[in-house]
Amino acid sequence: MQTATTEKLTAGSPSQEDIETRRSHVKNTLCCPYCENNLEKWVVPDSPFNEWPNEFFYVCMNDECSYYVQSWSTIAALGDFGAYRLVYDPLKDRCFPAPLIRSTIPRG
Ligand SMILES: [Zn+2]
Repeated sequence: MQTATTEKLTAGSPSQEDIETRRSHVKNTLCCPYCENNLEKWVVPDSPFNEWPNEFFYVCMNDECSYYVQSWSTIAALGDFGAYRLVYDPLKDRCFPAPLIRSTIPRG
């Protein structure tokens, strides 16, 4: 007998528990908790419009990342303007989503 779950998981996605464990280790591993790819250093552009105290963040640039892939469907439900990648803030030691503008991504 199968029970319907409220949470949809993509095939091969790590469990929420795995993700939480990895999230707490990002500081040491600098790996994405969702796809375990190495995070890439992203230097914050020098702009009067950004209020970040950081000089850089770490971003998951993997197009196959479940976090990124799932963001497309989440965003599509809200409006058609893009997706977001996982970003790690080394100062606050936490992960957050960084929105991307769709026009920067080649259409398939
Ligand atoms: Zn990832």
